[in-house]
Amino acid sequence: MDSRNLWRLVSWCGVVALLLSVGSLRSGWRSPLSWAGDPKAPSPTNQGLEHLKGMTPQQIARTPWKKKPDHYWKKHLSPLPFYVCRKAGTERPFTGKHLHNKEKGVFVCSSCGHLLFDSKTKFNSGTGWPSFYDVYDKHAVRENIDSSHGMIRKEVVCARCNAHLGHVFDDGPKPTGLRYCINSVCLEHRSHQYAASVKDAHRRRP
Ligand SMILES: [Zn+2]
Repeated sequence: MDSRNLWRLVSWCGVVALLLSVGSLRSGWRSPLSWAGDPKAPSPTNQGLEHLKGMTPQQIARTPWKKKPDHYWKKHLSPLPFYVCRKAGTERPFTGKHLHNKEKGVFVCSSCGHLLFDSKTKFNSGTGWPSFYDVYDKHAVRENIDSSHGMIRKEVVCARCNAHLGHVFDDGPKPTGLRYCINSVCLEHRSHQYAASVKDAHRRRP
């Protein structure tokens, strides 16, 4: 290969490399390695509930969440949680961020931060949605009869803000025999210390 052909080859390689890099930037593609090492990526347990930041547990407990209008939730929830939690939708199975979450702690309402489930009662139901055999305590959720889609089911909603969470069925494991089938987008994960601080704040409520 003479020097002119060699120069041509090098030029072509440069053009191809430039086109590839522009294409990947336009499509938003990033190497998986660039994600794995991203030190700024937030922990999954610290996402969500931005609208509660700056509020004390007492202020959160006193807020009349059930009276908040749709435009409030539309402003503070992203489209999928708004559709599922405020419009009784359902996220696609096997897509939720908490389906395989085995971290110890509690699951709180993604709308109002209310304590809903303990990780101790989470189990793999194989249905594609996070499943629990019990609620956090007797104040956690309320149940409504849901006759949509030609079925009679028990809808589960957050007792504090009425967010739709999912449904409860009676084919769960012992000791309750219940299966709370819950959408991931309606939940946020928090530590047991967080749960203890919330309960402590409630005890000291005037
Ligand atoms: Zn709630």
